[in-house]
Amino acid sequence: LIQLYAPLNFLGVLYREIRQAFTDIERMFRLLGTEREIRDAPDAWPLPSGPLDVRFEHVSFAYDPRRQVLEDLSLEIPAGQTLAVVGHSGGGKSTLARLLFRFYDVSAGRILIGGHDLRTLRQDSLRRAIGIVPQDTVLFNDSIFYNIRYGRPDASEEEVFAAARAAQLHDFISALPDGYHTTVGERGLKLSGGEKQRVAIARTLLKNPAILIFDEATSALDSRTEQAIAAQLEAAAVGRTALIIAHRLSTVMNADRIVVLEAGRIVEHGTHAGLLARDGQYAAMWRLQQQEQD
Ligand code: ATP
Repeated sequence: LIQLYAPLNFLGVLYREIRQAFTDIERMFRLLGTEREIRDAPDAWPLPSGPLDVRFEHVSFAYDPRRQVLEDLSLEIPAGQTLAVVGHSGGGKSTLARLLFRFYDVSAGRILIGGHDLRTLRQDSLRRAIGIVPQDTVLFNDSIFYNIRYGRPDASEEEVFAAARAAQLHDFISALPDGYHTTVGERGLKLSGGEKQRVAIARTLLKNPAILIFDEATSALDSRTEQAIAAQLEAAAVGRTALIIAHRLSTVMNADRIVVLEAGRIVEHGTHAGLLARDGQYAAMWRLQQQEQD
């Protein structure tokens, strides 16, 4: 009987695993399906290469028609410059990034890249032109090398190392017993939040996009990691058009321009020095963060 039981039990396990796999595939198709809601126009064209400026013109947006998230918002990032967006939680900062990547279409107004309305562009060319360092980077349970090279799968080993160096990860990785072959664990659990975000920066540097979106992690980082990431970010933004969504004002001090977003509207804009001199909401946020650090 035991001889019979073992294979049957094995088949039972196999059956459960196959069923689980189908459930996962189903879920994946559903996810893909939601993303495919936005389709290319039949005459969509590819985004030209080279420096690109970004403009939001009178943009309004709602995830749910009963609740407006962005209201008549206009902003401009000249090619090669950095714009930082700050403001309280829920103000719509990450929504700006999602709209720029065209996960959703605007309800009113328009978004232009290099002078072209996003809706007239081919999405594959848009996604090639934009690199996102998200709040929560998705890492695959594979080696660090694989996770960085994911930014450009045909990159050479030397190019992967160079990107890791630029993200100040190379020394850290080289000191690990398995070096670049170290696996990062399920969802990157073996890495700290700061290390994960640096892997994402290296990945994006390898992709070498014309436009960089950086969505700063809200999770607390120690101040050394925070400064290191701010420095790498600044280096990554050189020569690119960058949109930085920041929670810590230390990240944005050197941005060309800063906007303060409040309930979907821009309430202040200017440089760090200009906004401090204005002594409004930005200056109040700055004082609060300085006190917290002290
Ligand atoms: P945080 O600083 O906390 O990251 P944020 O300023 O980036 O916040 P968003 O993520 O842009 O804010 O969200 C703006 C508003 O839209 C919030 O009120 C949020 O609850 C809502 N929202 C965000 N994503 C969705 C969604 N997929 N469906 C419905 N509402 C959403």
